[in-house]
Amino acid sequence: MRKLEAAKIVVASHNKGKLAEIAELIAPFGLQAGSAADYGLPEPAETGTTFEENAYIKAYAAASATGLPALSDDSGLVVDALDGAPGVYTADWAETGDGRDFAMAMRKVEDLLREKGAVTPDARTGRFVAVLCLCWPDGHAEYFRGEVEGTLVWPPRGERGFGYDPVFKPDGYDETFGEMPASQKHSWEAGRGDLGLSHRARAFARFANAMLVEA
Ligand code: IMP
Repeated sequence: MRKLEAAKIVVASHNKGKLAEIAELIAPFGLQAGSAADYGLPEPAETGTTFEENAYIKAYAAASATGLPALSDDSGLVVDALDGAPGVYTADWAETGDGRDFAMAMRKVEDLLREKGAVTPDARTGRFVAVLCLCWPDGHAEYFRGEVEGTLVWPPRGERGFGYDPVFKPDGYDETFGEMPASQKHSWEAGRGDLGLSHRARAFARFANAMLVEA
């Protein structure tokens, strides 16, 4: 595995929710991290069919444009009763043509679950998946995956977090990601074991353990 030696990286994301979480996760490591917006980078089309492919598209675009190693996150919600949907299309399901509407996207998931008769918790299982890709300007990439299992609840609960957080209740907890404080959702210590609770915290723990030394 290639090691990260640069003191500066670019976080290849325009998503404010993800950027805020990644900034907090990176903070203890003394790594300078600019965002795609800081470098005026366009958002590449996510044409892949896996989280890994889309993470690579974003990280390689940012690394080749800036000359810096780039870290991207491709993530989504995988619902078992919907054969894995929305999956890599999780962000697309919120697209209105004029921005993103997650209340609408959560309702779409709920409507489809009801069409399938998935009304009891055991029929409403799923997971959040995050794949971090660290890509160098020469195209070399390393991947770190994190997942968190849970249940889809209805109606949405909580004003915290972002995206589909209000309908996702991680296994072993009573609150949705929308109800929990951010520190509980993504800190390493808050989770069971040393990997953190959220998919992003778990992927990040793998990245940090492999690549970073705490400052
Ligand atoms: P993408 O990785 O840019 O394709 O977008 C993934 C989409 O998944 C985001 O727009 C969010 O809606 C959703 N998502 C990813 N991570 C989370 C999370 O931690 N909470 C809620 N929604 C998430």
